[in-house]
Amino acid sequence: MDVVVVGAGTFGASLAWLLARAGERVTLVDQFEPGDRRATSGGETRLIRCSHGEDADYTAMARRARTLWRELEAESGAELMVECGVAWFAHGEDGWEAASQRAMEAQGIPCERLDVAEGARLFPSFRGDDLAFVLLEPEAGVVRAQRAVQALARQAAAHGATIIRGKAQPPSRGSDPLEVEVNPQPPSTGSDPLEVEVNPQPPSTGSDPLEVEGDVVVWACGGWLAGLFPGLVRLAVTRQELLFVDGGPAWAEPGVPGWVDYDHAMYGTADLDGLGVKAALDVEGPPLDPDAELHDAATTEPQVRAYLRTRFPALERAPLNEARACRYELSPDSHFIAAPHPEHDGVWLVGGGSGHGFKHGPAMAERLIAAVTGREPLPARFGLGQRVPARSMRTAGSGVRD
Ligand SMILES: Cc1cc2nc3c(=O)[nH]c(=O)nc-3n(C[C@H](O)[C@H](O)[C@H](O)COP(=O)(O)OP(=O)(O)OC[C@H]3O[C@@H](n4cnc5c(N)ncnc54)[C@H](O)[C@@H]3O)c2cc1C
Repeated sequence: MDVVVVGAGTFGASLAWLLARAGERVTLVDQFEPGDRRATSGGETRLIRCSHGEDADYTAMARRARTLWRELEAESGAELMVECGVAWFAHGEDGWEAASQRAMEAQGIPCERLDVAEGARLFPSFRGDDLAFVLLEPEAGVVRAQRAVQALARQAAAHGATIIRGKAQPPSRGSDPLEVEVNPQPPSTGSDPLEVEVNPQPPSTGSDPLEVEGDVVVWACGGWLAGLFPGLVRLAVTRQELLFVDGGPAWAEPGVPGWVDYDHAMYGTADLDGLGVKAALDVEGPPLDPDAELHDAATTEPQVRAYLRTRFPALERAPLNEARACRYELSPDSHFIAAPHPEHDGVWLVGGGSGHGFKHGPAMAERLIAAVTGREPLPARFGLGQRVPARSMRTAGSGVRD
């Protein structure tokens, strides 16, 4: 099978890796270097966790993805996962966290319900008088996102995939949808070079478009997907912020878990790789065109500081190291998109990561391969039809409950 994958984020690069590893012929096209920060899969870290409320399917997929990330680490030699655990701050006895615990226990995934005093011992500074309990996933943690995407692309290339840096055009009326026109792009400046052969080599501007052809073409284009396929895909692309504060050495000790406050739409990590303690407001930000520049600014600092004061008092006045902007591409119900194009046989659309897609990349790719080869269909909820807004798989977002 010849497969063209457009988009080298977590979904596309994972697909390229698994297909190439299985001996298929793969061409992976991206307008940027894999891991570029303008893609949603750029940036240093992403949480990997199995908790998804009562949703058994995402729970199992996250667990499977963990195994595949480990395989990628073994294959590539890159250290991609930090198994520091993830702690969930439960405001009620029977909310998202209790449902997550039931779903994980049913699948034999380790998790522990801690009382608030036990939960407090996980962190250098903690206040939990508003909490019912803390749910700890000891085998969850953090994936080094940019490095992981680069490792996926590198390993895809090592298994024979061709990587092209170029901007692909969606099929136009009358053209063959399995022939993709690609306009070569100049080298991007937003990330380290991949250190694998990227075509055209050396990259140039103004070159003639390339034609790449496959039996299957997968468009895994993140925030660009809705613009490429208007009328088929609905996504809200929003500006989000990550804040990194200097918490001192205690927060850089191994074993301080990542954390999520689902109901209050906040999450973060300890100080990993010297970046500082990460804390982010997860309310959906203002709309941002996928091609617009990402301006780094700490507009959410007041809300983040207010949260730190109530949860991790020692961090309230911790100096701000950095604020980073990035994009979400949100489907209306926070479920992913993975479906065949309704008019073009062999063309598939994939995306809608909705702020929680990174971790799932390789496991989604595995399921997509099963669907494309007719072995197992994807869940109907990943389809292209109408979506009804639903409880978010990320945090409560702007639908904050208290
Ligand atoms: C701040 C932030 C925090 C997050 N936290 C988490 C987390 O903790 N855990 C988690 O699991 N997930 C998290 N996510 C979500 C996760 O990062 C995304 O769901 C995931 O990275 C989306 O991957 P993707 O492959 O769909 O898109 P992308 O990574 O955007 O990849 C799409 C690629 O397609 C390319 N492309 C688009 N159009 C074209 C074209 N015409 N021609 C060529 N190339 C094209 C783009 O250049 C891009 O590289 C977070 C996201 C953000 C922004």
